[in-house]
Parts: sequence; structure tokens; C-alpha cells
Amino acid sequence: MFETLHKATLDKIFVLMAEYAADPRSEKIDLGVGVYKDETGNTPIMSAVRKAEARIHENARTKTYVGVSGNRGFCNAIVDLVLADSVDRSRVRTAQGPGGTGALWILIQLLNRAKPGARVMISDPSWPNHWPMMELAGLTPEHYPYFDPKTRAVDFDAMLATLDTLGPDDIVLLHACCHNPTGANLTEAQWDQVAASLARTGAFPLLDLAYLGFGDGLEADAYAARKLASSVPEMMIAFSGSKNFGLYRERAGCAIAIARDEAGADIVGSQMSNVIRASFSQPPDHGAEIIRVILEDPALRAEWEAELAQMRERMKRLRVKLAEAIRKQSNATDYDFIAEHSGMFSLLGLERDVVERLKTEDGVYMINDSRINVAGIPEDRVDALASHLLAATR
Ligand code: PMP
Repeated sequence: MFETLHKATLDKIFVLMAEYAADPRSEKIDLGVGVYKDETGNTPIMSAVRKAEARIHENARTKTYVGVSGNRGFCNAIVDLVLADSVDRSRVRTAQGPGGTGALWILIQLLNRAKPGARVMISDPSWPNHWPMMELAGLTPEHYPYFDPKTRAVDFDAMLATLDTLGPDDIVLLHACCHNPTGANLTEAQWDQVAASLARTGAFPLLDLAYLGFGDGLEADAYAARKLASSVPEMMIAFSGSKNFGLYRERAGCAIAIARDEAGADIVGSQMSNVIRASFSQPPDHGAEIIRVILEDPALRAEWEAELAQMRERMKRLRVKLAEAIRKQSNATDYDFIAEHSGMFSLLGLERDVVERLKTEDGVYMINDSRINVAGIPEDRVDALASHLLAATR
């Protein structure tokens, strides 16, 4: 059976994580892995999560199945959080997925049923899993221009020009906020233009929302989702609770579909359940239940929002500190973009050999496309990191 197979390559991030773990140097710096880290380098369990877990432990009476579409309270709370009153709820259907990836998987399976093999436009670059996920689902991925490596900002004119050429048979995958891997995002005015373009061409938006609250706040980060929801007749959103609730391994995600009307929504909802049943039958509950408990309880919710704000502010502070340290040492403004980007990542735009040298000579680890996780910047060694980056690119 297996003779027809060849060895598959692992996502480069897992290789890098292993190399970092094996590196004996005490001054090594991990800017690679894509999880939030506190100042001690730990990915913490949020205090609201601990309290919600204690409550669940206390009150739970059964582990019986929850249902194909998962934890309804969780899904409803996520729709409130993401869409607020931007769309009539009779047009919205949801299903819980195992993580944001699972939510995205349900949605793209459904899209491939609706339009087998349809073209999906993906930002260049994008989260490395987007492309293979589309291929595995049977869809046809293609890139739209996004990041300008010279300015380290979004090449919005090129992006919009491509979006304007699309039609009703095309799907566009958009990062709702905190673009991964670049950290470069659209302004609200630019989202308005994207919404107008999609409304005009009829291209179908699929929003990946994996970092709500990591950029400029829960409201600001929901702008794209709400703007599109109020501008186009149909769309989908894949929400992840991995980063903003720190629930990575618990796999809490929500697939949201918005249809033209209630009858259309019923069909889409039934198709989501059908896809889930044949894929993994039911999602895991624990992470979703934690999020439901937090979002439905005003005190726990306030505690979560405060902790999320702290994490966001810490990342912003580290961005500003690194950009300032580089400016001070070099007298140049080349790296100011780090402070202008938002979310957990920035794409530095370095050549592969520079990234390799930073790793081997200085113990500074980043993804080989030069994406850094700003949460990994050591606050007490920002100057050292700045001088490594400057020396490597000199
Ligand atoms: N989309 C993007 C852009 C991401 O960065 C991630 C997490 N790395 C996900 C989706 C999926 O996250 P998860 O499945 O862990 O919830």
C-alpha cells in the first residue's frame, strides 16, 4: 500500500522549533514559533480560562455528545463578538470546528460542494497552510498581490486592481486583521474599498479571523468582518479562539456562514452539518465551553478582555522598543515599519542567507521567510537583538 508514497515534508516551523530546542546557547532568541509568549517566554493559561475551567469541572455532569454543529452557546457568543449587529441573524449559520483550521476546513469543503474546483485567491504571502488546505479540498488556489517587500506595507493598489478583475465564480481569502505572516494590514478606508469591490464584482469573501483582539482591540479588529457582512450578500468567516483565549491545544474554532436570506441560510447550515458528520462527526467541546462560560459571564469576560489588552499592549510596546533601538543604533528609519505593523508578526523582508546567519551566528531564530513573532522579543535584550539585525543586514 505505502510503496506509492514518498516522504512528505513537515511545515518548516516544526523543524525550526526542534532546532531551537536543541540549541545550547543561553542567549538564543526565539522569534519563530507562532504562539503568544509572556516576558518569561511562557505561553500562559489566561486567568479567566483557569476560572472557567474550574467552574466547568465543578458543574459538569456528563461527557455525552454535544451535537454535530457543536456548542451552540459558544457559536452564538462568537457571532455576537465578531458581527455584533452588522447583519440580520436569520441569514447567519454557524458550526463549531476543531480550531480555526477546523472551521476553515468545514467552510472550504462546503465551498467546493457549491463550486467544485473554484478558484480561491490568497494573499501573497499568506499563512503557509492556506494553499495546501485549498488543494486538499479540491479548490484551486492562486495568489493576489499583497505585500510590497520594499515598503514592507500592503501594496493596496495592486491588490485592489486584482480584486476588481474577479467575478462571481471566484473566492477571495482575506485576513480580517493581524495578517500572518506580514503584520501589514489594511486601513478601515481600504476595507471599505475592498467591500465595494466585492459588492461590485460578486466575488465571494472568505475571512480568516485568527487574531481578533491582537491588533488594535476587539472592536477595531472586527471592522473588516462587520463591514463586509453589511456590504455583500454572502460570505464566510473562520474564527479561531487559539490565540486570543490562549487555548491552542483545545482546538476551539467557529465556522460562520452568511447567506442571502433565511432559506439560503438553512441550506448552508444543513450542508455544514453534513460535512462535519462525514469528516469527524462532532467537534471537541472543552475549549468551546471555556469560551462560552467566559463570554456569557460579565465578570469573567471583563477579566479576559483586560488580559487580552495587556497582551496586545505588550506586543505593541515591544514593536516600538525594537524599532527605536534600531533607529538609535543606525540613525536610519528602515525598520520603523515594525512599529507600524500590527498583530503578532512582522515580515522583515530579509534574504534567506541573512535569516540563516542570524540563526547560526547569533542564535536569533525566525521563519526562513524572515517572519518574526514580536511576542518573542526579549524586553531586556532589545538592544542586543537590534544590533544583531543591523549587523546581519549591513
Ligand atoms: N489562520 C491563520 C492566519 C493562522 O495564523 C492560524 C494559526 N496559526 C490559523 C488560521 C489556525 O489556528 P488554529 O487552528 O490553531 O485555531
